[in-house]
Amino acid sequence: MTNLSKNYSPLKTSLKTTALCLLPMLFYTHNAQAEGKLTVYCSVQNVTCEKVTKRFAEKYNVDAQFVRNSTGTVLGKIKAEKENPQADVWFGGTFEPHLQAADQGLLATYRSPLQKNIMPQFKKLMDERGDYTSIIYLMEVAIGVNTEKLKQLNIPEPKCFADLLKPEFKNQIQYADPRVSGTGYSFLTTLVQLWGEEKAFDYLKKLNANVAQYSKSGLATGNLATGEVGVDIAFMHGYVREKDKGALVKGILPCEGVGYTLGSVSIIKGARNLENAKHFVDFVLDTEAQEIPWRESDSYQIPANIHAKASPKASDPSKLKLLDIDFIRFGADAESKRLIERWVETVKGEK
Ligand code: PLP
Repeated sequence: MTNLSKNYSPLKTSLKTTALCLLPMLFYTHNAQAEGKLTVYCSVQNVTCEKVTKRFAEKYNVDAQFVRNSTGTVLGKIKAEKENPQADVWFGGTFEPHLQAADQGLLATYRSPLQKNIMPQFKKLMDERGDYTSIIYLMEVAIGVNTEKLKQLNIPEPKCFADLLKPEFKNQIQYADPRVSGTGYSFLTTLVQLWGEEKAFDYLKKLNANVAQYSKSGLATGNLATGEVGVDIAFMHGYVREKDKGALVKGILPCEGVGYTLGSVSIIKGARNLENAKHFVDFVLDTEAQEIPWRESDSYQIPANIHAKASPKASDPSKLKLLDIDFIRFGADAESKRLIERWVETVKGEK
């Protein structure tokens, strides 16, 4: 058995949102059959990508590497590489772009036996779309505020999405661009589910007047923590993490209703390392890997496996009154493209 810390040699590219980590062969023996390579496109926190890929490599004696990018960016990459796939499996990121990838013929079919442990409320979704993708976690959409910054500016804390239209929030808000970010798309689908499309776009158009910037990822909560912006709209667990690290940040569930999305894992069509990709899907659906985000990388999304323990810092899904998000509609390729194009025309076009 080799010394893992010695052999583990991450390489980082200069791109801000991209990390490439190479793991040389790791000689663990409890599954001697599985060997070879695996390339993972990863859309969770960089450190989670690293821990999960590394644990898989150790456990399955596989030479594994990952590349991290936002959900929409990975969808674009997989499409661009369709004729010559550069990765085997797509780990994490929001559910809808995985469904889009399936619609675009970019995913391989694999129904993991571990799907039986996914929260029962998603059984129907898995029955319908589980040939192509598997649900691995859940995240709720929240408003993040920097309490100190709002105090300085003498702005009361928002309770509702509607509050964010007040003129005092001018240049204080950021949310992620839905063309590249699954988080940005989840915010959009939350509003459409809540109010219907016309009212949702009317709201987003008005909100645009207060938006300081559209970030590239829902994970870009650092500038909320530093007070560069006073408000961010993304997933609750990111705000819990910032607060935990000492930032004066708070997550607020909007009064109108709580939208959410699911994290997913899928095998890329034409994967060169298909058997390892299947092992990887089973691995990330199982309890050990489901707990890595919170146990080892301070990331508190809610595990989808009913047997996995959630972090005590994670929201309790039984207490969340979640909107009934129509994933089949919002994950359909044509509908997703249409909504994002409408966002570009009516919202981004104004900036
Ligand atoms: N997965 C997890 C665990 C996340 O926390 C986030 C964003 O916060 C995402 C996926 C979506 O990331 P992006 O907005 O970069 O697509």
